[in-house]
Amino acid sequence: MIIRVSDMIGRNESEKEIRIDISSAQLKDSEVLFDSDVRVTGKLISTEDKLIARLTAQFRAGLTCSRCTKVFFDHYVIEFEEVIDLDNPEIVEGELDFVELVRDNILVRMPTQPLCDEHCKGLCFVCGQDKNTHDCDCETEELDPRLAELKNLLDGE
Ligand SMILES: [Zn+2]
Ligand SMILES: [Zn+2]
Repeated sequence: MIIRVSDMIGRNESEKEIRIDISSAQLKDSEVLFDSDVRVTGKLISTEDKLIARLTAQFRAGLTCSRCTKVFFDHYVIEFEEVIDLDNPEIVEGELDFVELVRDNILVRMPTQPLCDEHCKGLCFVCGQDKNTHDCDCETEELDPRLAELKNLLDGE
């Protein structure tokens, strides 16, 4: 996604409204499954020697739950500001390519330990069963070794 910035460079406080859609195919990532275009809105502001992007990215995406490993989809709204030096390699012949900038800002702001639900029960560490869908009896049979020791002591008395 290319924005012409040659008319802004070196001009103090020149502003440009941004409203672009980046297709999910352009943002392909192994951990974040973009399920819609990413709508990017906001402003690009120039100072004498920099450009400042104040942007909001909105999209639907799938993440893998860190407890039950299920992929769940949600709508995300991510706001960020990025200062762009004029020698940034994404500026070529007065045009700025936004894709990498938007992509990097989204990826660092996505949850690192995503949960499909804050009450997600996760997988049973014994049998691997998803405890959100079925309960298993594993935990009750497995007694914590320290508790088992205490139980033996009490039984012995
Ligand atoms: Zn989960
Ligand atoms: Zn189990």
